[in-house]
This record gives sequence, C-alpha cells and structure tokens, in this order.
Amino acid sequence: MKRFNLLLSLLMVSAIFAFGQHKLPELPYSYGALEPYIDSTTMRIHHSGHHATYVNNLNKALEKYPHLQSWSVRDLLLKLNSLPKDVQTAVRNNGGGHYNHTFFWQIMAPAGTTKMSAKLENAIVKYFGSVDKFKEAFEKAATGRFGSGWAWLLKKSDGTLYVESTPNQDNMLMPYNTLKGKPILALDVWEHAYYLKYQSKRAAYVKAFWNIVNWEKVAELGGY
Ligand code: MN
Repeated sequence: MKRFNLLLSLLMVSAIFAFGQHKLPELPYSYGALEPYIDSTTMRIHHSGHHATYVNNLNKALEKYPHLQSWSVRDLLLKLNSLPKDVQTAVRNNGGGHYNHTFFWQIMAPAGTTKMSAKLENAIVKYFGSVDKFKEAFEKAATGRFGSGWAWLLKKSDGTLYVESTPNQDNMLMPYNTLKGKPILALDVWEHAYYLKYQSKRAAYVKAFWNIVNWEKVAELGGY
C-alpha cells in the first residue's frame, strides 16, 4: 500500500510538471450557455480543444527555460522581443492564443443577462456617433480581417475608443503591434470559432455575437 501511495504521488508530481505553469481557465458558464448563438459543440471544442492546445504548447515551449516558467502570460507577451529567439514564435502564437481566449470567454454571457450601462453607451456614442455605428465598425473589422484573427474594441489612455483587428493570435501587448490601448471587447474570427454552425458565413456569426456580449464586463474593463 505504501509503495502504491508513493507511486501515486510520483505520478501526481510528474503530471503537475508535465502540465506546466500555465493552466486552462474554467469557463464562467456552461458549454451550452451561449446557445443558440454559439452552439455547445463549438464551445466545447474551442475551449477544451483549441484553447487547451495553446496552453499545452506554451508550457512545452517554456520547458527548457525554467526562468521563464514563473512569468505571467502577459509579461511573456510584453517582453516577447527579449525572449530567447527559439521560443519567440511559439510564445507569440500560443501565449497570444492563451491570453486572447482567456479574455474572450470573459466578455461573453448568456443572452439577455447583461445590458449596456448608460456610461458605456455615452462613451460609445461620443466616439462612434451611435451604438449602431459602433456595431457597424466592429462588424467591418471582424468580417474584413482576411484569414484568421481577432476584432477588438480598444480604449486609449486618453479615453478614445476605436476598433481594429489583428491577424492570427496577435494582440496589443506584443511589441511589434503598433495598436495602442486596452482591449475591452474582442471577437475571435478564426473559422474554428464559428464554422460548425455558420460554415462560411462569418458575417452571420459576427451579427449573432451581439446577443451574447457581456456588457457588464465590457463596462468594467473600460472603467465605465
Ligand atoms: Mn479561437
């Protein structure tokens, strides 16, 4: 029995080391919670398949650099240029993927559970003219991104709100990205995010997204 317990402890310790520093966060809702706008199967594959792979590959990339293993994903991305050359691409893609998806899960909520605060609405009206015009600009950024990437609503330090898109898993933390500002809303426009339900109709997925935005979280992130 003792020997068995020892074996079990060794297995657990090795599992922890194999798993590494970065962990897949739990979703703040169930896989089916965003139905019918994002289907349960897509959510499950997206979270337990795609996001988990970014986390595992990030941990693998850092395996031979123990001093980097205690860094947060945010710090890794901010200091990407100073990392060892042979891990920069892996950290850019997988660290970016981990960061962006962790962000994305938080800014969604089951339909009808949150609404835009007056403060957030005022800011949107100030910088875009109206909520509809903001949505139009965001949809344009999301549908206009060729290939895989993300659409973002960003808040600059002077308060300005604007929308942009980035390719692949790039984001504003990365040094070669000239876009400035804090992300307060994002949409994943990789095909894996919508293909099962919407096939090639990215625009329909982008329109459906408005039903499941967590406006309370967006307001909180923007300080409204
Ligand atoms: Mn994704």
